[in-house]
Amino acid sequence: MRDGNIAVVGGSVAGCAAALAAARGGAGRVTVLERAGGRLRERGLGVTLHSDRFAELEAAGYVDAAMPWSPLHRRIWTVRDGSAPLGRAVAVHTFPFRAYSWGSLWDELRRRVPEGAVYRTDTVVTAVEPDADGVTLRLADGRGERYDAVIGADGYRSVVRETMFPGLRPTWAGYLAWRGSCAPPPYPEESARRQSAPDPAEARTVLFPGGHCMMYRIPDGRGGQRLNWVLYVAPPAGTDARQDLRTPTSLPPGGLDPELTGFLRGLVAEHFPAYWAGCVLDTPADSTLVQPIYDLEVPHYAAGRLLLAGDAATVARPHTGGSSVKALQDAWALETAWRSGADWEAVTKTYDADRTAVGATMVGLGRRLGRAQVTEAPDWAGLTEEDLEQWWRAQHQGSEHSSGFGGHARGRA
Ligand SMILES: Cc1cc2nc3c(=O)[nH]c(=O)nc-3n(C[C@H](O)[C@H](O)[C@H](O)COP(=O)(O)OP(=O)(O)OC[C@H]3O[C@@H](n4cnc5c(N)ncnc54)[C@H](O)[C@@H]3O)c2cc1C
Repeated sequence: MRDGNIAVVGGSVAGCAAALAAARGGAGRVTVLERAGGRLRERGLGVTLHSDRFAELEAAGYVDAAMPWSPLHRRIWTVRDGSAPLGRAVAVHTFPFRAYSWGSLWDELRRRVPEGAVYRTDTVVTAVEPDADGVTLRLADGRGERYDAVIGADGYRSVVRETMFPGLRPTWAGYLAWRGSCAPPPYPEESARRQSAPDPAEARTVLFPGGHCMMYRIPDGRGGQRLNWVLYVAPPAGTDARQDLRTPTSLPPGGLDPELTGFLRGLVAEHFPAYWAGCVLDTPADSTLVQPIYDLEVPHYAAGRLLLAGDAATVARPHTGGSSVKALQDAWALETAWRSGADWEAVTKTYDADRTAVGATMVGLGRRLGRAQVTEAPDWAGLTEEDLEQWWRAQHQGSEHSSGFGGHARGRA
């Protein structure tokens, strides 16, 4: 086992981190098999990492403080208020997160895949055949490759998971995420004059009937910033027959038709304060994408010689702010289990016991937040600050520190 020959299926966030974990744990050979060709292309969008979770992951050697990031300190829950360009703040929460562009996070993890490991692109795994001593992977070119163990880091449509739990599929949550980013428009003149321009380290949650939109700045890769936004709402009326809005895949940038574009623009124009509306309206349709939101939970993270990591194992709704942390912690937990385990059985058992409960808690938290913030959202405009605080505490069943918001501290599910 110490010199085992390991394959990681998928070379995105979870896959690169898992390759690092396996190498550190003592694997003899690590091979990453990634379907995409070349560098994974970023979609110009952001991810956030909770500052406390970042500090733990940095100490564990999975992320680096030098990665370009934008600080976030506060989150302002905002509603439209007549013609006030920035709207009205209903409540302000501390929001200790670091905002990254997805591409720079992936670049950093790709760089960390140890030199001795092989990272193969254009390699599609079509079937996974486990037996008592190892696993044979079938590739799209017809070849079979033999490994001692396989880590499935192949995302929400994982072939590794399908082998472990046939028929287990993500379930649609009943709404969509619309995502994009734009150069931040200049602040409204009036607020600039009164020196009340929004602080770039503030995240905004713009509230509207039946949903909300999260907005925050991310590095643009050229020393400046972009404004990243994610808007959650049910599909437009009359689209029930459209399976593409209900299946776990995304309409890529440029994939929005005039019906979807018109719906988004109409909603934002009607319900957003002018400045925040401008941010969404300034994002070209060909760089806006739509992702149906769904939940996925597995009964086990490991079985025999197969292990799961990242979205292949569990998909928690993005409101948790903890999916990338979850994927990185999977790798860290794998390394820990590997270092302490005397044989495969011990490694997989420890890993499974560590991560299955955390994954389930995060999926549960995502469901609660999604219900409260989208499918059963309150009448935002009528909420007082106190109402909002109470509503927020109910979603976290007390405290966001213990609910897993932004990811659990390692060792606590
Ligand atoms: C190109 C890309 C861009 C993304 N951009 C963003 C973003 O901007 N913001 C954000 O919040 N999230 C983004 N995500 C999603 C984000 O990475 C995940 O939600 C989360 O970080 C967990 O990552 P993951 O590695 O588990 O899954 P994923 O990131 O989904 O990675 C799964 C990987 O497995 C590969 N794969 C799948 N099936 C096979 C197969 N059969 N054989 C070989 N390889 C396979 C895929 O090509 C992919 O690279 C992006 C994902 C990708 C792949």
